[in-house]
Amino acid sequence: MRNLLLKPQISSCTLVKMTKSHYLCPKLFTMKESLFGKTLAELQELVAELGLPGYTAKQITDWLYKKDISSIDEMTNLSKKARELLNEKYEFGLTAPTKVQVSIDGTKKYLFPTIQHKYIETAMIPERDRKTVCVSSQVGCKMGCLFCFTAKQGFQGQLSAGEIVNQVKSIEEASEVSNIVYMGMGEPFDNLDEVLKSIEILTADWGFAMSPRRITVSTIGIIPGILTFLEKSEAHLAVSLHTPFNEERQKLMPVQVAYPIEDVVAEIKRWDFGRQRRVSFEYIVFENLNDTPLHAKELARLLDGLKCRINLIRFHPVPGTPLKSPNDETIQHFKELLNKKGILTTIRASRGQDIYAACGLLSTKELVKN
Ligand code: SF4
Repeated sequence: MRNLLLKPQISSCTLVKMTKSHYLCPKLFTMKESLFGKTLAELQELVAELGLPGYTAKQITDWLYKKDISSIDEMTNLSKKARELLNEKYEFGLTAPTKVQVSIDGTKKYLFPTIQHKYIETAMIPERDRKTVCVSSQVGCKMGCLFCFTAKQGFQGQLSAGEIVNQVKSIEEASEVSNIVYMGMGEPFDNLDEVLKSIEILTADWGFAMSPRRITVSTIGIIPGILTFLEKSEAHLAVSLHTPFNEERQKLMPVQVAYPIEDVVAEIKRWDFGRQRRVSFEYIVFENLNDTPLHAKELARLLDGLKCRINLIRFHPVPGTPLKSPNDETIQHFKELLNKKGILTTIRASRGQDIYAACGLLSTKELVKN
């Protein structure tokens, strides 16, 4: 297998020295099924089918999720026969990024290939005390939000749990990742099963054993997905709000027609979040659109009685939209308005603006090239 392992091709703008040796050239994707991305239960079934001892499944999860190898041949505590049987039908299943852009503020944007020459983006955001990875959950997106460049790609396909977790495992900072946010390309609850499976792999003792409190999944507000997610996972929830007014939100986010924000918040209010689980609302501030005292008043009414936080986000302008970003003073003023209404509000620091920070820009550029 070693001769198939290539280091990632890095673009000219890349300053990163990739040191891992587990990269598989995307051009050499095989038709074999990946082991990476399988749960312990799936591996137990798999080893039973191959006639291998039951404990082999746990040995395999250790190699997949706890160690730093890249081929089945390196699973040295498995018998030779077991490795041969696995190699016949399966591959290890890691995929390297093909491009990395590095911002002057240290933020990195990784471009990963998926099947059929499509691409997804993953951001790594370093802060003083943490390294957060922002993963994609779909290739493109079908939700059509006006302010989003990924929306302009349209929907290109779903990511498997393995492809989601690969975005954490196959970046240079893999061993230092402290937090994961599902805020990259795609709507996580439009790919709910694979997203939940990826969270299982990230949080299970046999997997990456991360605390679910270090994981946040962001949705535009798909109610059935929210309810299943709240029931089946313990990770934090973030909801993209952007305006409390129906007509305004419909123009920004077509999902408002199917799932009005009023209904989304009503469902969330019914849920007992316990002491440690968090719900927050993402609010991109657009110039002359959603930052008036009336918006603050309506937000206070909408969120009344819910323990939550609003994160104000600067808009990264994307080509082809009329939307603009307000200046810092306007955002600060809106934050104060919300704080006065009793809503805990923070302004999210703007990161990586010099490297196509708006989600979807980099992958669209690659898509157009192919
Ligand atoms: S903002 Fe999210 S849900 Fe909306 S189109 Fe973009 S990726 Fe999809």
